[in-house]
Amino acid sequence: MMQVSDTIAAFRKALDAERAAGKTVGLAPTMGALHAGHASLIDAAARSCDVVAVTVFVNPLQFGPNEDLAKYPRPFENDMALAAQHGATHILHPSVEEMYGPTGSTVLTTIHVAGITDTMEGAVRPGHFDGVATVVAKLFNAAGPCRAFFGEKDYQQLQVVRQLAHDLSFPIEIVGCAIVREADGLALSSRNVYLSPADRAASIVLSRALDAGAALLRTDIEDLDAARNEVARIVAGEPRASLDYAEAVLTDTEVRLLVAAKFGTTRLLDNLGVPR
Ligand code: AMP
Repeated sequence: MMQVSDTIAAFRKALDAERAAGKTVGLAPTMGALHAGHASLIDAAARSCDVVAVTVFVNPLQFGPNEDLAKYPRPFENDMALAAQHGATHILHPSVEEMYGPTGSTVLTTIHVAGITDTMEGAVRPGHFDGVATVVAKLFNAAGPCRAFFGEKDYQQLQVVRQLAHDLSFPIEIVGCAIVREADGLALSSRNVYLSPADRAASIVLSRALDAGAALLRTDIEDLDAARNEVARIVAGEPRASLDYAEAVLTDTEVRLLVAAKFGTTRLLDNLGVPR
């Protein structure tokens, strides 16, 4: 049986009761329109935790004024069925009013994670990561101590969430989960439903470009410029794609290639790590 809450108080009470009974809690925050990518987070949570809480909330704070907030898909009945199939035991499905007050005007506190939000998605979408950090902090406070699962699909978001959890001492362990893809390579996204058939066909250029960039890195892991340029060159070769950025980011363990492009009005992201 899955317990569905539409208030923070009811959700918190239910998870407090689980912990009091000795259960560990897994958390998978989402904006709904659940697909196999989200399901992989729920599966991972179910494998490593006793109970699994999924949050379904389309967060207005993380959308820009000209973005797709109004038309973002909200198939909640389907979401509940998919979450249950994958082992979710608790769902939080709050209204905007529950999260932010009747007019949104009760929120005077926002969270800004500095530095790592200046580039890529943060540069293209001003304010986006403040919206993400603020809602994630609220959801963490609602959920309480747990292990929280986030997709590498939103790679920069995962880094922001890790930093936030560390900096604000949330009693929460962040777990990153691999990108789930369609058979032809397109990373699953709730926004893929917006793609026209022609744009859907063209969209595989993103994973193709990342694969080509990764192949260059495997011959020379030091040459980030060559890899980034190769990703950009291949995406630019697809007339239906309009490139926002191609980046190569060096970490302790890998080089991460990241790309974002628009197909018509639909913006898609993808990324791929190459071990060092
Ligand atoms: P969203 O509903 O788009 O906000 O995504 C909720 C969570 O699911 C985030 O942690 C995403 O990174 C993750 N996610 C979305 N798509 C995928 C995917 N294709 N593979 C793995 N995780 C994903």
